[in-house]
Formats: sequence, C-alpha cells, structure tokens
Amino acid sequence: MDVRTEELPEETLDPATWDELQALARRVVDDGIAHVRDVRDRPLWRDIPAEVKAAFCAPLPRGPSDLPEVYQQLCETLMPYPMGNIHPRFWMWYMGSGSYSGALAEFMAAIDGSNLGGGNNAAAFMDTQVVTWLKQMMGFPETASGTLVSGGSMANIIGLTTARNVKAGIDLRAEGVAAIPRPLRFYGSDQIHSCHQKAVELLGLGNKALRRVPTGPDYRMDVEALRAMIAEDRKAGCCPAAVIATAGTVNTGAIDDLAAIGALCRDEDLWFHVDGCIGALIAIAPENGHLVAGLERADSVALDPHKWLHVPFEAGCALVRDGGLHRDTFAVHPEYLEEKPRGIAANEYLHDYNLQTSRAFRALKVWMTLKEHGVDKFGRLIDQNIAQAAYLEGLIAEVPELEMMAPREINIVCFRYRPSGVPEGELRALNTEIMLRMQEAGIAALSDTTVDGRHCLRVAICNHRTRRADLDLLVREILRIGAEVVQG
Ligand SMILES: *Cc1c(COP(=O)(O)O)cnc(C)c1O
Repeated sequence: MDVRTEELPEETLDPATWDELQALARRVVDDGIAHVRDVRDRPLWRDIPAEVKAAFCAPLPRGPSDLPEVYQQLCETLMPYPMGNIHPRFWMWYMGSGSYSGALAEFMAAIDGSNLGGGNNAAAFMDTQVVTWLKQMMGFPETASGTLVSGGSMANIIGLTTARNVKAGIDLRAEGVAAIPRPLRFYGSDQIHSCHQKAVELLGLGNKALRRVPTGPDYRMDVEALRAMIAEDRKAGCCPAAVIATAGTVNTGAIDDLAAIGALCRDEDLWFHVDGCIGALIAIAPENGHLVAGLERADSVALDPHKWLHVPFEAGCALVRDGGLHRDTFAVHPEYLEEKPRGIAANEYLHDYNLQTSRAFRALKVWMTLKEHGVDKFGRLIDQNIAQAAYLEGLIAEVPELEMMAPREINIVCFRYRPSGVPEGELRALNTEIMLRMQEAGIAALSDTTVDGRHCLRVAICNHRTRRADLDLLVREILRIGAEVVQG
C-alpha cells in the first residue's frame, strides 16, 4: 500500500452522512412552496436595506460554513428582496412569472447533471423532444431545426447569424466578413428590440447594416417603405439580406404584417426572420392565434419560453426552417468531439446548432411544464392576458384623467395620467413619480416608455397570476397617488 494515501485523506463535496442535508433539503422545498403560495400577500418589491447590501461585500470565504447557517443567511438577505416578477401585479419589463414546478424542474435538471452539449443520454433526447414540440407549436415543418438558448437575444443571434452566412455570397466561415463583396443590409422596424443592434455589431456588420424601417400609427412596419428601402440599397450597391419582423414589439405590442413581409422576402430573395420573443407563442392561443398568421413561413424565428411559458430563467429558442443551413452555420468537429457508433457519444451533438459547447439542461423545465399543464392551457392563459389588457383599456376609457397613448393590439397597454389643469410639460415628471411611488410601496410594477415622442406608462401583462381585480386596484391607486402628487 502506498503510504501517501494514508497521510492524505481524499476529499469530496458529498457529506459524510446525508441525514442533515436531507432535513435541510426538505425545509428548502417547504419554504419554497410558502414563498410562491403567499406571494400575493407580500409587497411586490422593497428596497434593500444598507446592512443587507453590505452582506454582499463579505470577504471571500476561505473555510467552510454550516449549510443550515448559509441557508439562513439566504432567507434573510436574498429571499425578501426579489425583483418582484412572480407577483400578480408585476407588469413592468417583459418576462414570465415562474411556477413552482418550473423550479422543481430546475432542481431535477441539476440533479441529473447532464451537459447538454449532446451525447447519448436521456437529457439530450428530451432536449430534441422539446425543440420538436416548439416547432409544432409554431407550425414549423419536421425538417426544421432548433436549439434552446439562454433567451430571446441569443435566439435572435442564432437566426441572424444563419441569415448572414447564407446571404453573404461567399464561404463566410472561411473568409470572414471582410470578404463580403457587397455590404449586407438587414431591415427591422423603428420599434425593433435593442438586441438586434448588438447582434449586427457582433456579426461584424455594424449598426448601420440594420436599417430602421418607419412604422405607421399602429407601430407596425410600413411594408411599402421597406420595399422602397430594399430597392434603394440595391441601387447603392448593397446586398439586402434579411428582414427582421417583430411579432409583438416591446413598446406597444405591435405585430408586423408577417404575411406581407414574408411574401416580400420571397419576392426579393431575402431571409425572413421573426423576432417572436413576445408574440410567437400567440400562435397557440385559440382566440388570438390569427394575429401571428404568416409566422409559420419564416426562415427563422426567435421565441422565449421564459416569457409566456413562464419557465424560470433562462430559456429561449431559435428555430430555423432549413435545418441544414442552421447546422452549416455552427457545426465544428474537433478530434476530441467525434461522434461514435456506440456508447456515451453515440448521438448528434446539440452544440452543432449553437455557439455554446457546454449547455444547461433547459429542456426539462419546458418539458415538465408543458406535460403538467398541456399546451392548450398556455394558449388559454395567453388569451386571458390579452383579454385582461383589453379590460384595462376599458377601465382607462371610463376615467377622464387617464388617456391611451398607443393602440392596444395584445397584452401591452400604453397610457398616462393627465388630470385637467396640468400642463403637457409636467406630465412626464408626474407620471414617473406615480410609477416610482407604486414601486416603492410594493403595490404594482409598471414601466414607462416613449411612443411617438410622448412619455407614457406601460402595462405589459405576461402574468398567469394577474386577476381583473388587480387591474381595478391599479386604476384606483394611480388616481389616488396621482391626486396626492398633484396636491404636493
Ligand atoms: C424580450 C425580448 C427580446 C430579448 O429576449 P431575452 O429573453 O430578454 O434575451 C428580444 N426581442 C423582443 C421583442 C423581446 O420582447
């Protein structure tokens, strides 16, 4: 026997005995249920006290701590101060509101522990299954490909990278963007999400390669203006490459005319990408599915399960109609990652559709929530949120001090408080103050934005916990706080 093995005890992260850990794990699961179950009874948000913030400047822990004590610290410093997006009155930035089973799925994914770079394991097959389900939900053909990514921003990058490579006119992977013969041009409306600017910058094309097409009074892309821009760019020696249609803009929820843009892309031989981070999932909603007709003909689509499917962060998905083009854009086979006929590596590599090599097991939370509730329920919940937004629009119409600021198409309502006697120039400050006081009191979370140069409040209802009574309360509170602010 080697004497050194006696001198150096071998360590592991596993506990010596499991009883204590088991008791703690049960407590965490129970506390988690209470946290989600009672969310409506807590303030939506509260500011973090200075001493709690200071706890996040602690020195690097060199030695161990007792796990129950570590958990206790989380109970005191973390759990009371969340963003608030699981609360029924969070309508601010656009995101889902989570679910307890989604959290359980995250836990089980970590327990399984598989790396979703690929391989011959059940997690990889579940990943492929979930992508297939999402393709079916979007009306995409079986031959389409897809990949689960961190979120919509990355899903858009996957689609736009494929578009760039296909339309570059050269072997872009070998030659690089410097060799592109005619400058590529992408088109999106002036309401396009900021992630597309980052995308074209990252793709080496520059922000000027993303042309902003004007929108009409409904905030949808002006398709005739798009047509004219494409012609103008061709004349100038550029290569129009792709149109990014938005199904549900962040500002107002406008849905570009997908059928008309798709037809134009076919006529002009452009790639048709749909940013469906907000609205692609409307395709499964029985009442409103028609709003995104034409989506199923896109060359690529970005959608966001961590929005209207309410799975915990992160989960986005890119789908590409021609799976071969998708694979040609990302697949690389180094010698240490060869597929094998048998054993652990005997399956297609999922990282061939993606920029990542190691990948999280995101599929499990999507799989589990779809299995638990069924896709029909998610369709109804989407319709419910849109109906709630229409209800809020109706409440606003009844109150003279409130005015709509943009047409409501789906679940986003832009409006402002304008009591008589307050000059236009003071409305921004007044509305901002109402919004901040509501956040600070933990009543409700709205955001603000500017549409057509005018400031407004914005309610985006992507929330399965919202009830119409919450919207009644919102209107009451805006009027109460607004009167308070005006009186000084
Ligand atoms: C949310 C959103 C994105 C970005 O998605 P993330 O999941 O936040 O990365 C892109 N486009 C639109 C229209 C969005 O609403």
